[in-house]
Amino acid sequence: MVSRTVLCALILLSCSFFLPCCAGADETSVTTYVVSPERKEGSTLLSKVRVKGADRRSSSVSGEGKAEGPGRVLGDAPVVPSFPSALVTEMRSWSNPDYSRVSVTLDREVKFSYHKLRRDHTVHLPERVYIDISGARVAPGVKDIPIGDGLLKMARVGQFRPDVVRVVLDIESIKEYKIFPLSDPFRIIIDVRGERRTEISRLEESIQSLDTELDMRKEPSEENNVLPGKGKPGKVRRIVIDAGHGGHDPGAVGPGGMREKDIVLEIAKKLARKIRGETGIDVVMTRSTDIFLPLEERTAIANKVNADLFVSIHANASLNKAAAGIETYYLNLAKTDKAARVAARENNTSLEKVGLLQSILFDLMANYKINDSARLADDVQKSLCDRLSKKYAGIRNLGVKQGPFYVLVGATMPSILVETAFISNEHDAALLESQEYQDAAASGILAGIRNYIKGLH
Ligand SMILES: [Zn+2]
Repeated sequence: MVSRTVLCALILLSCSFFLPCCAGADETSVTTYVVSPERKEGSTLLSKVRVKGADRRSSSVSGEGKAEGPGRVLGDAPVVPSFPSALVTEMRSWSNPDYSRVSVTLDREVKFSYHKLRRDHTVHLPERVYIDISGARVAPGVKDIPIGDGLLKMARVGQFRPDVVRVVLDIESIKEYKIFPLSDPFRIIIDVRGERRTEISRLEESIQSLDTELDMRKEPSEENNVLPGKGKPGKVRRIVIDAGHGGHDPGAVGPGGMREKDIVLEIAKKLARKIRGETGIDVVMTRSTDIFLPLEERTAIANKVNADLFVSIHANASLNKAAAGIETYYLNLAKTDKAARVAARENNTSLEKVGLLQSILFDLMANYKINDSARLADDVQKSLCDRLSKKYAGIRNLGVKQGPFYVLVGATMPSILVETAFISNEHDAALLESQEYQDAAASGILAGIRNYIKGLH
């Protein structure tokens, strides 16, 4: 396991995660960044400080200053506006009636802290969570987002002080929230959950409001349903298939310039076709064309459409050209350096940043379906290797592994990442390129999903 002290590098996490809404209602309880090599286990390493605010500079985020009072920031530190250098380049949101994700993207790493304010009746302000980003400015064009999903009313962004950007989430009604950073590019992710209202949200078919790039054709569920459990609540009704990478991110590049993004899209499409053709299960593909999607968006899509399973498809790569075989991951701390390296590559980030994610993963994984994900990984890995071994000699089963993959963080359903072979290995790459292997891999993954579903009974 990566040492937790390594992670104390730059950031400063305010990860006191899963704060129940009703608790900590004393206005500005703040957790902020401390960069101390003497980090102790647990969240106590983060010093809690009271933030005293300053004047209001932005109409968008005004009102937040009231709970703070004038004058100071971070204890006794004087307010010295440093030259703001980081830029908030984007704010986005994805939501449904029991889940919202908001992402704030910056052009570099920053310090941030977050705070919760209770409803202020005197000025008619709702309950709010706000995040102060130090040394930052808002880029032109970055605007407030009306959300109105029953959890959040609005996400607002503004220049609170010359060197502080404030992001405010106006709360309608939420149960818990988590805030954590991802790297390369640096972004702050806010996941908000409400009370479980699955049936309602399913009826509302929030899926239909998805962006048009999503492939969301649905097969008639009356036909060809060979899976058990059809129609029973709590079973598998919708699967999100995620083809890794895409657009300007080619993923790993193999011999002759073959690109992971193309291979995995082919396998993902074949898998989607099989699921639709052979089962009564809905499939949503995060991408069905060569487009770029941030990793956090892929998870957000799965949560937004109330998927019951999430399967992310990839091809492996290693500097060791002899490395070959199939492995399946689920979200957890990496147990080996190799697994951490795979996560770094798939996260498009450094090993150090993977370490940072590991340090906060314990907290992020509260409520995460780890056992179900491990079981899904087992079933898929086994069926995939069985199926391919029948067709090809020398298929290597590298087993089920664990790692901190951005694309799996925050998924509310059992979720896995499948490495279908090594694109960096000449033999594996030749297999990956063939339609037959892609087809057999898709069949193997589907067989694993079937076995997983059978096990639910
Ligand atoms: Zn990949």
